[in-house]
This record gives sequence, structure tokens and C-alpha cells, in this order.
Amino acid sequence: MYPNTQLHIGGSWVGGAAGVTIPVLNPATGETIGTVAKAEKADLDRALAAAEKGFQVWKKVGAFDRYKTLRKAADIIRSRADEIGKIMSAEQGKPFIEAKGETLLAGDIMDWFAEEARRTYGRVVPPRAEGVYQLVVKEPVGPVAAFTPWNFPINQAVRKCSAAIAAGCSIILKGPEETPAACAALVQAYLDAGVPEGVVQLVYGVPSEISEYLIPHPVIRKITFTGSTPVGKHLSMLAGAHMKRITMELGGHAPAIVFEDADVDTAVKVLSANKFRNAGQVCVAPTRFLVHEKVYDQFVDGFVKFAKGLKVGDGMDKDTRMGPLANDRRVQAMEMFVSDAVSKGAKVQTGGKRIGNKGNFFEPTVMTDVPLEARIMNEEPFGPLAPISAFSDFDAVVREANRLPYGLAAYAYTKSAKTAAAIGSAFESGMVSINHHGLALPEVPFGGIKDSGFGSEGGSEAIEAYLNTKFITQVGL
Ligand code: NAD
Repeated sequence: MYPNTQLHIGGSWVGGAAGVTIPVLNPATGETIGTVAKAEKADLDRALAAAEKGFQVWKKVGAFDRYKTLRKAADIIRSRADEIGKIMSAEQGKPFIEAKGETLLAGDIMDWFAEEARRTYGRVVPPRAEGVYQLVVKEPVGPVAAFTPWNFPINQAVRKCSAAIAAGCSIILKGPEETPAACAALVQAYLDAGVPEGVVQLVYGVPSEISEYLIPHPVIRKITFTGSTPVGKHLSMLAGAHMKRITMELGGHAPAIVFEDADVDTAVKVLSANKFRNAGQVCVAPTRFLVHEKVYDQFVDGFVKFAKGLKVGDGMDKDTRMGPLANDRRVQAMEMFVSDAVSKGAKVQTGGKRIGNKGNFFEPTVMTDVPLEARIMNEEPFGPLAPISAFSDFDAVVREANRLPYGLAAYAYTKSAKTAAAIGSAFESGMVSINHHGLALPEVPFGGIKDSGFGSEGGSEAIEAYLNTKFITQVGL
């Protein structure tokens, strides 16, 4: 049932020029379930030529037609959500229900960008002299190079592709080699909706080889990347050297503050569910739990109970609530974070170990008494680990929340409107969610500050990143 994935270049699905393929593993079993074609330089050259041609065609298509095409793609991907959800669960590990939900959300994201295509307004600036017309117009930036990771095989790609298509750009997407087939199904939805040849190319291969070739290439006018902060900084430097525009959606280490007046049951329920969603491999996952000392024991007890009760298993089993980690690198990272924290004095309240010897399963883990010098308090865990600490003072907890160079998401729970306003303003973070988990909807901004990145992939800000501003002044003769 799991399809082998090819490259999509200039309107055709093709193998790589050298015929090389990369195996795709099921993280629940460790077994090879398929392959993905590896692009060579010759393939990238063909993708660049196709994207250049595709851009010349697509930029002339009116906004209303781009809107209609994207709306159609949205309906197509929704109609395939069951089938794509199964493919995604097999390659990435997440429970089928989460994989299907991700596919359905892709439809909402396409709808949003379809509508945005019709709102790329310019303006008319009042002139200083009679008869002068000063026009500000928005134009597509040009062919885009996009790089997306394995944690959300569709969601990370659909934001970039839909924004580019809505704006009138063409795109070369380097998809995730470890989870390639769901991403290919996304591209197929655009094609079936009528996106013309050359507008969307999909390649896979050695990420550094591809980015180092595409980013400096004169055809490419914009770079967009989702992934880790070190890689994002490297790609930003490369883009800067060639004066290419960037959007960077990078790592985070979200503080989650529970104040003494919080509804603790709600805080436990919402934060624990979001901690372990996608086995913690979510850039906006809550990761440093800072709980007021008066409600600390109640919060820890509730969180540990939830973690202990979480059914871990193959994403295709109906009862599974948390799947395996997407690759063995994450299991090794979890083992390192736990042993490092324990060696520095942390207590493991539940979990802490790999499960079994098949697949990449790791126990939902809760730790307390974790010192600030432990690596998990400083590096993005990107896995099912929850370190919980107590605090007593507002200023001190704000200092801890903002201590790290990350600034992606931040959470707080309080019944006081005054505290909610104060913490909302104090967080150094691109996104803040108070008393609920309300991030990542298509119509709201999505992006980080500080080391977490640059730009937004949601809301009305998102399409701006794919548009140039042109000023035209004219006078009638
Ligand atoms: P990694 O840092 O090697 O790779 C992260 C992503 O960047 C992958 O998709 C990879 O293909 C891509 N990548 C790596 N080097 C690249 C290059 N030179 N050019 C273009 N793309 C490149 O590590 P990993 O083991 O795959 O992931 C681990 C870390 O990455 C996690 O700890 C997490 O911090 C981060 N990550 C973040 C997100 C996110 O949603 N922001 C998603 C996946 C991974």
C-alpha cells in the first residue's frame, strides 16, 4: 500500500538522473516500506529550468483563477485524507487520526491562501502635483526554493507551496526524505487541481547538496526553510550572500507557565495533550513547564497520570495515542537528555526509557528537579520529555521563560485578566497562547523571533513574503 516516491519536474514524475533511490523506513517496525528517488545536479538543473518557465506562465494567470485552482486542490486533498493519512502514519509514525487531521488541515490552509491570492492589494498614494498617479503594486517574487522537514510531512510543505502558488510564484520543494510519500500526495493534489506544468517541482536527495546548489542559483528569488536553528542560520547566511529573501521557521523551547490562580485541571489536560502530540516532535510543543509552587504537586500528579495512561504504539492501531519517534536519531537524543538530566540531579517521575527493541518507541517521560544546566533546559527536546519546575515569583518566572535564545511559542494559565495581560506582554515570543492551545490556524500568524526564525507562515502576513513591492509613478501626457 505504501507508494515509492519519484521526483516531480516540469510536469512529470521521474526517477533521479543516476537511478539512485533512498530507502524509506516505517518507524514503528524499522522495516523498509518503500523508496524515494534521489535528485542529482542534472535533475536540479532541469527543475530550475522548469521553475523558470513555470513562473513565466503562472505569473500571468489572474488572481481569480489562482484562487479557483487552489480551492479545487483543497477539495481534492480533503477527499483523499483517509488514504494519505495511512501513508503518513506508515512513514512518520504519528497516529492515523493525527495524520488524517494534518491532511484535512492542509485543505484549510489551501483555502486560506486561495482567498489571500485575491487580496494582494496595492495602493494609490496621493500625489504632490495634479495628474500624477503614484501606484504601489504587488508582484510575485519569482521562483522559490523551499525545504521542509519530516515531523509534519504535509503541513510544513502546504504553507510554503500554497503561499507561492497564491502569489503567482513557481516553487522547487525539497521534501523530507524520511517521509516523502505524503508530501508527494500534496503535490499531486495541486497538479490534479490544474496547477500548470513547471509551477511546482518536488525533489529529494542530500539536503546540503540541494540547498547549496539551489540557494545561490540566479533563477531562485526566495528561500523558505522549516527545521533546526543551526541549519536555518546556515541557509540564511547562504541566502544573504546572494541577497535572496528568506522565511525561516526554526526550533523552539516553549515555556508553559501555570500560575497559582490557574484552572489546574484544564492546564494539565491541554498542556499534556500538546506535549505528547506527534510524540513531542512539534516546534511549538510546550517544553519547559514552570508551575507555581502552590499548585505544583497537583499539576505534577495530573501530568504524570496522563503520561502513564498514554497508549503508545503503532500509529495504525486504533487505540494508539502516541506513535514512535520518527527516526532513531530522536531516540538517541531522548536517551541523552534523560541521562544528562539524571546525572545532574533530575528525578524521573515516569518514563525515561526506550520501549522494546523494535521501532523507535520511547516512553512519555516526566522529570522534576531538573537543574538549569541540564541540556534539556537549554536545547530543544523535540520528543516526549516534560521537565517540570516550581516558581514563586512573577519576575523570576518571566526571566526563566525568556532566558533562552529561542522565541517561538509560549503558554500561560491564569484566571486573572491582569496576569494574562502582563504575561502576554512579557513573553519574548512570536506566538503566545493563554488558557488554551490556539496556535497554527491558517488565518493567524505563525512564526518565531530571536533564534526561532524570521517571518510568518500564517495569517495575512504569510503571502507578503512571496511578493515584491513595486512603485510606479505616472503622469498623463
Ligand atoms: P537536522 O538539523 O539535520 O535537520 C533538520 C531538517 O533540516 C531536516 O528536515 C533536514 O532534512 C534539513 N536539513 C539539514 N541540513 C540541511 C541543509 N544543509 N540544507 C537543507 N536542509 C537541511 O536534524 P534532524 O535530526 O532531522 O532534526 C533534529 C532537529 O531538527 C530537532 O531537534 C528539531 O530541533 C529540528 N526540527 C525542527 C522542525 C520544526 O518544525 N521547526 C522540524 C524538524 C526538525
